[in-house]
Amino acid sequence: MSSSSTVFISLVFKESTLGHLDNILAMAFLAILAVQALAQSPGKDFEKQRRQMVSAQLRSRGIDDTRVLNAMTKVPRHLFVPSSIRDLAYQDSALPIDHNQTISQPYIVALMSQLLSVKPGDKVLEIGTGSGYQAAVLAEMGVEVFTIEIVSELGLQAEKLLGELGYKSVRVKIGDGYLGWPENASFDGIIVTCAPTEIPEPLEKQLAEGGRMVIPVGESGFQELLLLTKQEGRIIRQKTIDVRFVPMVDEKGETY
Ligand code: SAH
Repeated sequence: MSSSSTVFISLVFKESTLGHLDNILAMAFLAILAVQALAQSPGKDFEKQRRQMVSAQLRSRGIDDTRVLNAMTKVPRHLFVPSSIRDLAYQDSALPIDHNQTISQPYIVALMSQLLSVKPGDKVLEIGTGSGYQAAVLAEMGVEVFTIEIVSELGLQAEKLLGELGYKSVRVKIGDGYLGWPENASFDGIIVTCAPTEIPEPLEKQLAEGGRMVIPVGESGFQELLLLTKQEGRIIRQKTIDVRFVPMVDEKGETY
């Protein structure tokens, strides 16, 4: 509360001894201040920023899957970025997270989620848990998520946050996602958020018949986002847009 409004309130209170009407005025004034303070509280502000992100960055660019739009209106993206850059969480860009990794731009998360075209109850494998944001969006869409992260600190941190936020349908594994998660295959959808130079064969194998895989493929910094569908055991490829993801690496840090 600013000092001028404090002075004003104390003036109103002093004068309020003069009569009942002043008391009512003082109460009304306090009520207005309380409503203003509530509207400016960080929680409310982030909610508003999230709604703006959905309409300005997603709807306007052709994202029309209501499950995706609803999920991204709900998931608190600001909790998935380092606290020092929380205020930037809803801007139209990728952001750095720990260990030199990045959380994707909201539009890319939305586009990949929409391309997967999964429905509640489907099983999805994600390679590259990172902050856990993409996994949370899929979980919010009603999907059962299996996500693999190669940097153990990142994976454990994401697992903890997802647990705290109540996303019970996400399972996190620390390991090399190139190999997929054969014990839980097959998957209705596979979403890869780090880029190999070739499509990993184990992932093709673990895709269910009729399933869809969304994957950036190419050399560092220049990749195409591919949509793969499995039809009668064969993989059909479709190019979508050019993207830039961190590389998919093995346990030694070598790019696949
Ligand atoms: N989906 C994430 C963003 C991922 S950034 C989010 O929503 O925040 C890409 C992630 O892929 C990084 O965390 C990186 O460590 C991870 N990664 C790279 N190679 C990998 C591999 N072989 N297996 C699993 N994760 C890998």
